[in-house]
Parts: sequence; C-alpha cells; structure tokens
Amino acid sequence: MPKGKTKTTDLRDELLYKKKNGFDALSPEEMIRLNEYCEGYKAFLDAAKTEREACREAVRLAEKAGFKPYKGEKLAPGARAYAVNNDRYVMLMVGGRKSVAEGVRLTAAHIDSPRLDLKPVPVYEDTDLCLLKTHYYGGIRKYQWVARPLAMHGVVTLKNGKVIDVVIGEKDDDPVFTVTDLLPHLGQDQSKKPLGEAFNGEHLNVLAGGLPYADEDADRVKLTFLSLLNSAYGITERDLITAELSLVPAGRAKDVGLDRSMIGAYGQDDRVCSYGALRAVLDCKGTPEHALVCALVDKEEIGSEGISGMQSAFFDTVMRRLCAAEGADPDACYEASQCLSADVTAAYDPTYSEAFEKRNSALLNAGVGVCKYTGARGKGAASDASSEYIARIAALLDENGVAWQASELGRVDLGGGGTVAKYVANRNIPTLDVGTPVLCMHAPFEVTGKLDVYMTYRTFSVFDGAK
Ligand code: MN
Ligand code: MN
Repeated sequence: MPKGKTKTTDLRDELLYKKKNGFDALSPEEMIRLNEYCEGYKAFLDAAKTEREACREAVRLAEKAGFKPYKGEKLAPGARAYAVNNDRYVMLMVGGRKSVAEGVRLTAAHIDSPRLDLKPVPVYEDTDLCLLKTHYYGGIRKYQWVARPLAMHGVVTLKNGKVIDVVIGEKDDDPVFTVTDLLPHLGQDQSKKPLGEAFNGEHLNVLAGGLPYADEDADRVKLTFLSLLNSAYGITERDLITAELSLVPAGRAKDVGLDRSMIGAYGQDDRVCSYGALRAVLDCKGTPEHALVCALVDKEEIGSEGISGMQSAFFDTVMRRLCAAEGADPDACYEASQCLSADVTAAYDPTYSEAFEKRNSALLNAGVGVCKYTGARGKGAASDASSEYIARIAALLDENGVAWQASELGRVDLGGGGTVAKYVANRNIPTLDVGTPVLCMHAPFEVTGKLDVYMTYRTFSVFDGAK
C-alpha cells in the first residue's frame, strides 16, 4: 500500500472511474425541476412530430421568450433573434458581451426522425380496401411499423402556393391509420425469413379506407378517401404529388415505469437534444459572455443532405451575416468557437447485452453521454474531438454538478452511426458529441431516462453560460 493511503474506499474514490445512477446525487429541489422540465419536454414531443412542426414549435417558444426574426443586423449584447430556412431548420441566436470574432457557443441538434413518408402517387385500391404506398425515411426496422396506430402529419401546398397543414390521428376521436401484418396462423413462411427480408419497403402499405362511394362503379373506396380529403382540406390526388405527408406513431408521450423514471415516445432521437438545446438558449437570462447560436437542423437521418441539413450553406450564410454586421472575419469566428453536437446515443440494454460493450456504453439515468468519436468500423466517418476540448467540457460539467458519462454506441464492428458533428467540425469549429442515452432508438416508441433528459438540458445551460 503506497504511503499515506489507509482506507481502500478512499483510494477507489480517488482513482477509479465508476458510472453512477444520477438520481442518487439529485437534491429534492432538483428533482422538482427535473420533473417540471420533463413535462415541458413531453409537451414538445406531442407538438412536434415532424421537422416542420418542431421548427414551428421552436419559433413559437422563441417568440414567447422575446426572440425576433433575424434580418442581418449586428446582434447587440443580449439581443435575441432567430432565422428559419424552408420551415424545416431554425437557428436561434443570443448576442454576447464579446464580439463574434471571439467565437460563439454553438449547439447543434436535429429535428427530423425516421418515419413512413407517402409516395408522390400513394393512393390505390385493392379488393375494396383503400391503401397508401409509402417510402420510408431514415433507418427503420420495418417490422416495428406494422400493426400499430399511425397518424398522418405534414403539409400540402396548393397550386396557388397556399400551404395546408394536415394532422389526422392525434385527437381522441380522430381515426388513425395502420400497416397490416400477417397473422401467425399463416406466417410460417414469413417467420423463416431473416428479419431484414421478412418485411420489405413495398410491404409498408397504409390501410386508409374501406367504404365504397355510392353510385360509382370503379375506384369506389379510393373515391371515398379522396372525397373526404377534399372536403376536409380542399385537395385532390394531384396535390399529393407536391405534398410532404408522413405517417408517424399516433399518440402522446408517456411516462414509463411504475416509478415514472423514464419517458417513452416517438421521435426522441433527436428531439430530446433539440429541446434541451432550445430550452437552454431560451432560458439564458441576461447577456452571455460569448454569443449563443443554436442550430436545429433537418435531414440528419439521411445524411444531413440538402437545403435543410447541416451540410447546407444556410448555416454559413447566417454566420457570415452575423460576422459582417460586426466587421468580424467569419473564419476567425469559426476557429474561436466551440460546439456541442447533440445527438442521442444507445443506452445499454441488458436484454441485448451482446450488442454492447458494457464498460463503454451509456447507462440509462447515469447522465448525459459524452462521446469522443462516432462512426463505424475503424471510426470511419467519425468526428473526433480532441483530448483538450473534451477535458474542457468535462471539467465544466463537473464544476456545475452535471451528471455525465463516457459513451460509445455499441460493440466495435457491429454497426455504428454518425451525427451532424463532422459537418460542424469540417468548418474548423471544435466540436464534441454529447447526447442522451436512448433505449430502442429509431423504434416507434423510444425510451429515455428522465435524469438523462434533464442533464442534457443542464449540459447546454452550463455550456451556454446560463447558470
Ligand atoms: Mn440522431
Ligand atoms: Mn437517428
């Protein structure tokens, strides 16, 4: 035993890293704040099932908190502004005491989630049933989307440019939709197939009607469906070509477990981080040292592509305008900035322990996951945060009593995944992946731990400098 060390318990505390259940260290006052925060989060989940709904809900909450549309002006210290791109991507900004030339504190998270999108020509009738063809969006396990109530969310843009919002299946007395599955009695052949082959994309047809239109002799159930759509929204089959309509799990976010320690809902990847980042910026009182920028982006689930993804020039356009208004060099701003790229990580699931390497997996309710690198195989396509930057963030979290844990997605060579981190880091902005552990990620019902949900918010709060 080295000199001066007498009790092994002290030595363990001093030298060993142990993941701990974060509830143990939570004060009764913090427990109250945690529960209040989680109620707000659940309301956000219910209001925001698509990226457009999330974008609008973020803007609604921002306007309530005094944020104004950004018009390219110099952001005065403490000024609050937001910029929206294509109704699917929103950036929120708070002016800092320092010039943007000295860097911003950037948080980035995504507001799109896997789902079933309607094809451009979706409606057909077969054997007196009205069905809708879908094309799935993002990484789904197709078998999880059958035999469950689905709601239709989205927009239809008419010839005259008018945008019509559609939400069917969320009110108590609304009808819902579903994708049928084979009965077990006749499922023997299907059951012998590998999971990935037993359900294919063309099986994901949505059951949408069965009532024949009176006095017609062809397309009768299809006519009923289209006439109901027409009377409710004034749209025709042709208008569906220009629509963005999705089928998402119907119903509200729920507490999970008798002790209500968890939340179950669709779309927590990545609205748990989006809401946390948003809330932290909205709750930031006074004037932060560095300007805050919160980017809530679309299309992460399909590679951050296109006009509304993290790769889009929109981010640079807004940042260049912010810099130009102060006569600051955007390159210098990026170089001096710091980013937390916030996306969910896989929580260790004891039922599927073989998929995880326990020491390096995030545990539910042990705090926000801090992930040095993402990627697959030999860290392919990873963004890799530097030791110095992780140390700085970890120290900040420790100083402020934020529960955090080291995390990696799962076993090496089993799969992997990426986040928007690399697209931020590619711009020469130091970036670290952080995020909430999630059980059954990408499933229609994802589960998070309330301790982690709250600590995700606290992570952004201390990063933003809002104590
Ligand atoms: Mn994600
Ligand atoms: Mn995802």
